Amino acid sequence: MNDAISSPRLAARVCGLAGSATVEMSERIRQAQAAGAEVLPLASGDPNLPTHPEIIAAAHRALQEGQTRYGPAAGLPALRTALARRLSARGGAGYSADELLVTPGGKFAVFAAMMAVVEPGDEVIHFDPCWVSYRACVRLCGGVPVAVPALGTIDAGRVAAAVTPRTRMIVVNSPVNPTGAVLSRDELAALLAIAERHDLWLLFDQVYAELVFAPDGFVPLQSLPGAKRRTFIADSLSKTYGMTGWRLGCLAAPEAAAKAVLKVIQHSIYCVPPFIQAAALAALALPESIVERHRERFRRRRDVAAAALGALPGISCAAPPATFYLFPKVGGDDKAVAAEWLEKLAIAVLPGSAFGAAGAGHLRLSLACSDEVLDEALARLRRHYLANSRDKDEIKTGSTA
Ligand code: GLU
Repeated sequence: MNDAISSPRLAARVCGLAGSATVEMSERIRQAQAAGAEVLPLASGDPNLPTHPEIIAAAHRALQEGQTRYGPAAGLPALRTALARRLSARGGAGYSADELLVTPGGKFAVFAAMMAVVEPGDEVIHFDPCWVSYRACVRLCGGVPVAVPALGTIDAGRVAAAVTPRTRMIVVNSPVNPTGAVLSRDELAALLAIAERHDLWLLFDQVYAELVFAPDGFVPLQSLPGAKRRTFIADSLSKTYGMTGWRLGCLAAPEAAAKAVLKVIQHSIYCVPPFIQAAALAALALPESIVERHRERFRRRRDVAAAALGALPGISCAAPPATFYLFPKVGGDDKAVAAEWLEKLAIAVLPGSAFGAAGAGHLRLSLACSDEVLDEALARLRRHYLANSRDKDEIKTGSTA
């Protein structure tokens, strides 16, 4: 008897949901590596930065001191205060601890904010291409994701045209995963104006805010007058401090909205483990020079990789102003190119179409790997494309030289 066939029915919200392309590719790489295969991982936004020893020591200390029980659902007061201070210091609006909730990663901050706002059938506008989980989180809340193409700049007219009486929220992400773009003040102001006109929430995902290469290149949405009262901010320590596995993020929101989201936290995860929060406090106390070093490392990799990819026939690659992602245009079928790179070169990247229809014809490369892995991947690509273009020339000229 087949257990799967005889089991009761599952909810449509999960049956109809596609898995996360980023997470599933990471699983695939892990399994291949465990089986002894060599794969160069340029797929996931999982920085190869070792967690700083002081962060690890703080977690040890907290465990030894007995911080092994439940903590406050909203997060440790000291961490909420430190996060509020950091957010306020970035410029723009001032935040207090009461407006901050500690979440297990930025992803749960996104999900919890949507749970507090989106009712069944409500529409949430997002840009395309975008991070793979926005659409899924909207669906899990019973909502309807509405894509507005925005591969380059955001066209406010298209956003305004996408608003209907069911629209509740616009998801704004800057710097942008997967393109590495940073939204300008004018783009953000246009979105805020639309949100104000239709009384919508804005969800601002700024998890790459510390990875903007130009000084003062990042404009926080909440810095715009009037934005704070309708904005949820999702943030994370993952990318900045090499803490992806610690699952430490936060959600900032007007106090009444934060109180509503707190109920989602109480009834789901209860709290982020207090010893993880103690580690996060240690991360926030580290000197700014550590973050600068990380940023500089990613900027160097971006320069090297964008130049190397752009030199390959058929590929054009801009050097984005932020993040550790490249989004080169490869032309043709991006899924086929990604599959070819994986099969022939053992280089794992993601097809741009995984991030939305507007991403088709592109690949997303994550430069969060080590310098050695990146150099090896670029060398393999160079050899592969050179050999292929030589073959084509030979076919064209009939030459065998
Ligand atoms: N955000 C990262 C990425 O886009 C990590 C995986 C995920 O959360 O989707 O690769």
